[in-house]
Amino acid sequence: MLYNNFKDKKISALAFGTMRLPVDASGAIDEKRTFEMVDYAISSGVNYFDTAYPYHGGMSEVVVGKALARYPREKFYLATKYPGHQISDSYDPADIFEKQMEKCGVDYFDFYLLHNVYENSVNVYTDPKWKIIDYFLEQKREGRIRHLGFSTHGALEVIKRFLEHCNNVYSDGIMEFCQIQLNYLDWTLQSAKSKYDFLTESKIPVFVMEPIRGGRLAKLDEITEAEMRRLRPDESTAAWALRWLQGLSGVVTVLSGMSSLEQMTDNVKTFETYKPLLKCENKIVKEAVERMNDSVPCTSCRYCTAGCPQNLDIPMLLSVYNEMKFSPSVNASMRIEALDANKRPSSCIKCGKCVKVCPQKIHIPTALSELDEALVKMPKWADVSRERAEAAKKIKL
Ligand code: SF4
Ligand code: SF4
Repeated sequence: MLYNNFKDKKISALAFGTMRLPVDASGAIDEKRTFEMVDYAISSGVNYFDTAYPYHGGMSEVVVGKALARYPREKFYLATKYPGHQISDSYDPADIFEKQMEKCGVDYFDFYLLHNVYENSVNVYTDPKWKIIDYFLEQKREGRIRHLGFSTHGALEVIKRFLEHCNNVYSDGIMEFCQIQLNYLDWTLQSAKSKYDFLTESKIPVFVMEPIRGGRLAKLDEITEAEMRRLRPDESTAAWALRWLQGLSGVVTVLSGMSSLEQMTDNVKTFETYKPLLKCENKIVKEAVERMNDSVPCTSCRYCTAGCPQNLDIPMLLSVYNEMKFSPSVNASMRIEALDANKRPSSCIKCGKCVKVCPQKIHIPTALSELDEALVKMPKWADVSRERAEAAKKIKL
């Protein structure tokens, strides 16, 4: 297993993300198979395990905690997250944190994250009324959190705003690491490159989530797969996605949300040796991205925004449009719900002023109208949050 340094720790380059654990016919976590995966991970040198309060209806923390309790505490690093991204009338970090300790059966977390700092939750996390960051800094002083960081699906501007707040109100470096969605497709599709560049320039260690994009990059088009097999007959398609990440310095660990022992065996094999993509291999990946990506080519130049009578943040809306087109998810739609009603795509009056100045010739009103239609089909994040809070209440330990 490859390892990377993080402060005084050596962290395995592959981490076990536990949001997609194996499940039985009823949808409950299959504990036997999960335990097997945890055992295999530990015996292979994986030492970082990432869970979160809402994963698997709140049961991921419980099952992962049980699986890890069979090992000495110093054998693994456990990470979990505070769900301030869920919409709620009030936020009580102490209540959630104590429950998480109990659910996981530990008396400290090695890594603790503010879950998904995005366009809406950034206001929750920075609101002095909830004292969220203050509380977790206090837990860190007491040794119940060893390292504090955050994950994000938000735009780069949100990450900057959040870190600026942390620096101004507290001090530089209180957010010790940042977890972002990073893979060769999102490098451009979700502007992950700009986030990665900013974080590495700011000397904030990057933890990677969705390296295979929920399995999307484990199966590609026939032309690409044939090329990959020709060059690397013994390698899976998923291995290419992981090896692409090996080429990025500043990445501490890659969290793969593995669902089977087979996936884990394959990923562990990839992280036994450092083998970043060669130039010719990068070319194959780039061509694959071009084939699978029919997104609008917005470069965020913002030439269009000054003349928009509705004052819409067009590049931001188009970035969500691209994401929704490729793989609709609440992570994308929640960013639109965070906007005031008059800043959402439905507010476009189709005046066409933006189209005239767009150097990429994007037909923006059409894209916004399609985005609006796609959003109607998505569940509301407030409803999802409510369901998750209800599920958490029902957990019996
Ligand atoms: S078409 Fe829509 S997005 Fe474009 S300038 Fe007019 S109102 Fe703004
Ligand atoms: S002008 Fe075109 S490319 Fe530039 S930000 Fe607007 S939509 Fe994107």
